[in-house]
Amino acid sequence: MGNSTIKNSRFFCIAPWSSITVAGNGDIKPCCTYDATMGNVHKGDDLITIWNSPKFIELRRKILAKQEPPGCRSCYRREQMIGTSRRLWLEDKFGIPDRDYGNLMPDPAFIHIDLNFANLCNYKCRMCSSTHSSSWYTEDLTIRSLYPELGRRLGQPVCCEPGYFSSLLDHFDQLERIDFKGGEPMVHDKHFDFLEMLIESGRASEITLVYVTNGSKISLRCDDVFPHFKEVKMIVSVDGTGELYKYIRSDTIPLEEIVENLSGLQRFYNLNGLWTVTTQVYNIFNLPDILDFIENNKLSNFANSYPVFDCTVTNPAYLRFSVMPKKLKNKAVEILEKTNDCRYNAIIQTLLTDEDDHTLYWDKFRIFAIALDEIRGTDLRTVVPLLGDAVYE
Ligand code: SF4
Repeated sequence: MGNSTIKNSRFFCIAPWSSITVAGNGDIKPCCTYDATMGNVHKGDDLITIWNSPKFIELRRKILAKQEPPGCRSCYRREQMIGTSRRLWLEDKFGIPDRDYGNLMPDPAFIHIDLNFANLCNYKCRMCSSTHSSSWYTEDLTIRSLYPELGRRLGQPVCCEPGYFSSLLDHFDQLERIDFKGGEPMVHDKHFDFLEMLIESGRASEITLVYVTNGSKISLRCDDVFPHFKEVKMIVSVDGTGELYKYIRSDTIPLEEIVENLSGLQRFYNLNGLWTVTTQVYNIFNLPDILDFIENNKLSNFANSYPVFDCTVTNPAYLRFSVMPKKLKNKAVEILEKTNDCRYNAIIQTLLTDEDDHTLYWDKFRIFAIALDEIRGTDLRTVVPLLGDAVYE
């Protein structure tokens, strides 16, 4: 099959030919969205060996056969809900790299990698889990034993050694960008050792580093490594304001202190920041407040183009904003439409047109929300009364 035919397929994706991800729990995948694992660095799997292992080959084969790979469903679901996805994002950022897309076992030549050194995190956001945050571990143990129907996976706290990634260094000639997510990447000291290896390899000045961070901690080691890289981007998550911010993030420092913390980043000439909002059932009524907060707390090296809503929870499915009953969806539409802000268009469209029966997921959300309130001593009704009253009714 010719390259042009493949590229025109609606299942075409550059990730399996140009990108690799190590998740916070050590799982090896083509991208952060892929909902299955090809191997795990904590089981001794080598990244370059996995790159051409049977599972990676099968993923490429499915894409070439214009079939939907089961691990890619999140991308298609996101495209339906908010009009974008990791698949489309990759193509937008990196174009379509020059590759022989008919080759099921290509030589590794990475454009982009997504390295998460650990699932250690100082927060336990409600839309997260023990797979991505060590702070979730004991609560996930409890919820799993009390409510197995929620199907929560349990992730042990783990941390990578920089040596796990040394086999990648020979394949960075085309590397443009590395993403660090986590857990919370700023508390993963060992990733700085890896960055020092990159600086020694002489490639750093051509690579952009991207952090998805909660902004609560800025390591002093940034001063030694950041200036060597082409650019550093800090994507700071803000998923609520006021009490909702604390409720979602769990007993953390107030958002105002995060802004103060981030203002220290202005010392890096090559650093740019960006806010990101993960839309979900907990914050769908609060989105205009989040945008107001961002507009009122400008930082000089943070982009003034405020977030478009290109990040949404799809997994677990019961935290999607689309699981709400019709009455709540209509209320959310009313709040968002009142702003006359076109950035809500895709969300409003989904809220208005989604006719799927989500009763099962809404019931699961109620179980989850009440269980977590009980464990954490919180009450959704006092934070988002509209949602809380419906959950507890
Ligand atoms: S999950 Fe999305 S980005 Fe990842 S490999 Fe599949 S289609 Fe590509």
